[in-house]
Amino acid sequence: TTVPLLTLNDGHTIPQLGYGVFKVDPGETERLVSTALEVGYRHIDTAAVYGNEEGVGRAIAASGIPRDELFITTKLWNSEQGSERARGAIEASLERLGLDHVDLYLIHWPRPDLDLYVQTWQQLESFRGEGLTRSIGVSNFHRPHLERLLAETDTVPAVDQIELHPAFAQRDLRAFAGDRDIRIEAWGPLGQGKYDLFGEDAVAAAAAAHGVTPAQVVLRWHLDHGIIVFPKSSTPERIAQNFDVFGFDLTADEVAAIDAIDRGQRVGADPDAAT
Ligand code: NAD
Repeated sequence: TTVPLLTLNDGHTIPQLGYGVFKVDPGETERLVSTALEVGYRHIDTAAVYGNEEGVGRAIAASGIPRDELFITTKLWNSEQGSERARGAIEASLERLGLDHVDLYLIHWPRPDLDLYVQTWQQLESFRGEGLTRSIGVSNFHRPHLERLLAETDTVPAVDQIELHPAFAQRDLRAFAGDRDIRIEAWGPLGQGKYDLFGEDAVAAAAAAHGVTPAQVVLRWHLDHGIIVFPKSSTPERIAQNFDVFGFDLTADEVAAIDAIDRGQRVGADPDAAT
């Protein structure tokens, strides 16, 4: 299996497919991340608020995989926004991960009510300059939040990690980001199991046609759109299955049929309302 490497707007590369550990039990994280690394994943997406950075770090250390072959993302939690707190947050994440730098550091949510994301972003620019992270990006930023960063700071985010799955395909934000060379990462790529995505006709039909699972079809759809994905599973068989998505190709008609599922159906929090 060869996972495509995408180039970010700062010149660094990112494996397009990774393993995400939201809601992976801290006590199981080392074992499951080790499984993912054995399967071949080289990109892990975690966050301070997930409470499992230590487990990610232990799996990395135990793997013996050279650091430059891994791509590790973590995120700054809302309570740590602002220039004072952010430094302590990245230092604590690096300590828990057992790393001297991450590959990508994200502002987890914009929290426009706090009005701290611009100064927080400027702090992330410093962290990048100091080598604490290779790339910097944002998560759950809507167009107005991105526009403020573009207008008021010097660095275009490398990525925006947003809720994105067939029923919530975020076309406008994808187009806006694409025009500015901001890569889109999908969270909840499988809809977090919160609606019957796998029973959608377009998904089920493509799965049957290619002899693969509906989850594999949906992951392939993301990849074909140039979206970065890191599906979460706590089941070793599914962790392996979700990595095995390069042995078939969706037709243009199948992709279009899955595109047509979009109905603006959010399964997670609205970033403008989240507190
Ligand atoms: P997801 O869409 O990846 O759904 C995960 C669920 O899908 C699993 O719990 C499992 O029940 C099911 N699943 C996984 N593989 C399957 C398979 N092959 N067959 C059948 N069912 C399968 O949702 P997610 O975990 O929320 O999103 C993925 C990652 O995105 C997270 O782990 C995390 O790293 C990131 N994330 C980020 C944010 C953010 O605010 N930035 C929010 C949520 C998630």
